[in-house]
Amino acid sequence: MRARPFLLLADYDGTLVPIRSAPALARLDPATRRLLRRLSQRRGVRLGLISGRSLPELRGMVRVPGALYVGNHGLELQGPGVRFLHPQARRAAPVLVRIAAMLRRVLRPIPGAWVESKRLSLSIHWRAIRRADRARFQREVRGAVSPWVASHRVRVTTGKRVVEIRPPVAWDKGAIVEWLMKRYRCPQGGVIYFGDDRTDEDAFRAVNRAGGISVFVGAPRAATAARWRVRGPRQVRNVLHRLEVRSA
Ligand SMILES: [Mg+2]
Repeated sequence: MRARPFLLLADYDGTLVPIRSAPALARLDPATRRLLRRLSQRRGVRLGLISGRSLPELRGMVRVPGALYVGNHGLELQGPGVRFLHPQARRAAPVLVRIAAMLRRVLRPIPGAWVESKRLSLSIHWRAIRRADRARFQREVRGAVSPWVASHRVRVTTGKRVVEIRPPVAWDKGAIVEWLMKRYRCPQGGVIYFGDDRTDEDAFRAVNRAGGISVFVGAPRAATAARWRVRGPRQVRNVLHRLEVRSA
C-alpha cells in the first residue's frame, strides 16, 4: 500500500501568475515551473492545479508532467492514473455551443467583450470593455442566458471580470477538492490550497473542514473563508520554496 500523499493544490490565474488583460498572457515564469516540477517529483507530495480554464489549456500553460490538472472549476480532471469528467457536464456541452453562438452575435457590437468556449463551460470576459458599455453588456448577457437558466439547462456565476456559464450541477472547486482528498485517502490536515477568487472559497471551506491549510492570495478582504493570506503570486512562490526546503 502506498503512503498517503500530501495534497498541494493551487489555482492558476491570480494565484501562480498575475491576472493579465488577456488569459493567454498569463504565463507561468520558468522559475515557478521548475519549482513546481521539483515539488511534483517529491515522494509523498501530489501536486494539483485547479482552474476555471479548460483542462487542455491549463495543462498547456503549466506544463508540469506528473501533476493533476483540474479544469472547468472541477468538472474535468486528469492526472497520473486518474481521470474524471462530470456526467452532467458532458450532457450540457451541446447547449453551451448554442449559447456561445448567440452570445457572440449579441456581444459583437461591444468592443472588448469576448466569449471563450471551454467546452464544458463558457467564460464571457469583460475586463477589456469600456465603462460606458458595461450596462449594455450585462443586459445582453442576461437576455441571452436567462431562458436557459430558467429551464435549468445552465447556471451563471461571476468571477473577476468574467461571467461564467456552467452546467446546472452542484459541483465546484470544493467538491473536486473533496473528491481528491477521498481518492488519495488524504489524512486529516494533509492538504494545502492556494486561491485568489470567489470560486476558490468553496475549496477553502473544504480544506478547512479537513483541517488543512487554506491560503487566500490577494489584498486583505473580510469575506474569505481562508485561514491564511499572502499578498500575491510572488509570495505564493516564496511559500512553495519554503515547503520545498522543509520537505527535503
Ligand atoms: Mg484565480
